[in-house]
Amino acid sequence: MARERLYLFDTTLRDGAQTNGVDFTLGDKLTIAKMLDDLGIDYVEGGYPGANPTDTQLFAEDRKLAATFTAFGMTRRPGRSTSNDPGLAALLEAKADAICFVAKSWDYHVRVALETTPEENLASIRDSVGAAVAKGREVLLDCEHFFDGYKANPQFALACAKAAYDAGARWVVLCDTNGGALPHEVEAIVGEVVKVIPGAHVGIHAHNDTEQAVANSLAAVRAGARQIQGTLNGLGERCGNANLVSIIPTLKLKAEFADRFEIGVSDAQLKSLAHASHTLDEMLNRAPNRHAPYVGESAFATKAGIHASAIMKDPATYEHVSPDRVGNRRKLLVSDQAGRSNVLAELERIGLKIDKDDARISRLLDVVKEREAIGYAYEAADASFELLARRVLGKVPDYFDVEKFDVNIEQRDNAVGQRVTVSLAVVKVKVDGETLISAAEGIGPVNALDLALRKDLGKYQGYINGLELTDYRVRILNGGTEAVTRVLIESQDESGERWTTVGVSPNIIDASFQALMDSIVYKLVRSGAPA
Ligand SMILES: [Zn+2]
Repeated sequence: MARERLYLFDTTLRDGAQTNGVDFTLGDKLTIAKMLDDLGIDYVEGGYPGANPTDTQLFAEDRKLAATFTAFGMTRRPGRSTSNDPGLAALLEAKADAICFVAKSWDYHVRVALETTPEENLASIRDSVGAAVAKGREVLLDCEHFFDGYKANPQFALACAKAAYDAGARWVVLCDTNGGALPHEVEAIVGEVVKVIPGAHVGIHAHNDTEQAVANSLAAVRAGARQIQGTLNGLGERCGNANLVSIIPTLKLKAEFADRFEIGVSDAQLKSLAHASHTLDEMLNRAPNRHAPYVGESAFATKAGIHASAIMKDPATYEHVSPDRVGNRRKLLVSDQAGRSNVLAELERIGLKIDKDDARISRLLDVVKEREAIGYAYEAADASFELLARRVLGKVPDYFDVEKFDVNIEQRDNAVGQRVTVSLAVVKVKVDGETLISAAEGIGPVNALDLALRKDLGKYQGYINGLELTDYRVRILNGGTEAVTRVLIESQDESGERWTTVGVSPNIIDASFQALMDSIVYKLVRSGAPA
């Protein structure tokens, strides 16, 4: 039986950016967009061009995603024409494949917040959708507060949705903006909507204020909606949006959905889900939720005892799905086959050829486990993992030795009597039997160390001239008996390639030094620098 297509729309970069404490840079947004693309998401909503410089810049260039790259914005303001609304003009100019407008669909909001008439609200929807369609864009309309609006005045809420559909919107998205709707209500209301607008054009955008955003999304699909909007790890304002990381495996692995529907995420892409989820957390500098469904470290962990012995006989006894389907692993077996296959997959990904029975793989796995136990995070630091693997396999030359470094921090009055804090680093490096000493001042100790380290590497200098440190993140970990510091450094080279390295130590400068060293050595390896 042919399965129906369900579409996934990710708004991590727009709604997810409303999360308290989350602040995406342009680089973050590009990295996450790429990650979503690799995962097989159909629509990536990048942001709100014109609302802030980052989003304006994001939409200034064609980002060349396989997904439908979508810009978000308001419908034309009441009382203006589409040609005389700068916000709308910016949106229409954005380099995006699709435009997602947001409009009111609750008459109470139209009166009180927008201070206009229901008729003008409908006209604004029609005009804006029409203008974007005329520009050749695929158009979506987010109907804000749709479920509350429907409860208050079903005719008007439906009229807003219908106005968008009739004006050529590909999708009419029903939003539970304050997150208060319950699954049975969502199912009933979506059931009414699809009598007026075909379900293949209806989407659901649920917030998690009663912790049912995922359930509400699935209820909408049961009732006929065919697009689900959500975010990675349920990021979003207040209690967050519908969590795509929970929705995707449910759609792929639960027969009720898997038998009826097809999504853009392949089985192979599903296996990268846990990795994508953890990578996002690392980028946000927050600890992944160990108890997250499907992808959490504890999602398939079983304490020793009767459960464990039953699981060893047959995992299906205690697991609702197989952890490797989502790239997670069972935490129980001592000889960790899943860990081994993860490592093998990673080695293949980075192009290191090795026989799968080679004893060095077990050694590498042991080293990774040991180091992760003391705080290293290799899921987030791809370049450090690659170096570690190459080292265990004996494939990293000793390019240079740092014989000694010294970092000083001094607070003093400068020439014009201002109190300043200055950092000075001195690095003594041995390259090819020759000792080189470099010193540099920086805005902080790590910056000074980075500058001094990269100032003179003798014959290798040419390889690292284009190297640039683009992000620096610190986390204090309370593992074991004492606190240690984990530093993640993101670097970039002249070709635009980016990589992340990690260092761990009780001392923040030492942790930073490890991550800086890994970054430089990684660059030399990648450039094929001679030993
Ligand atoms: Zn929202």
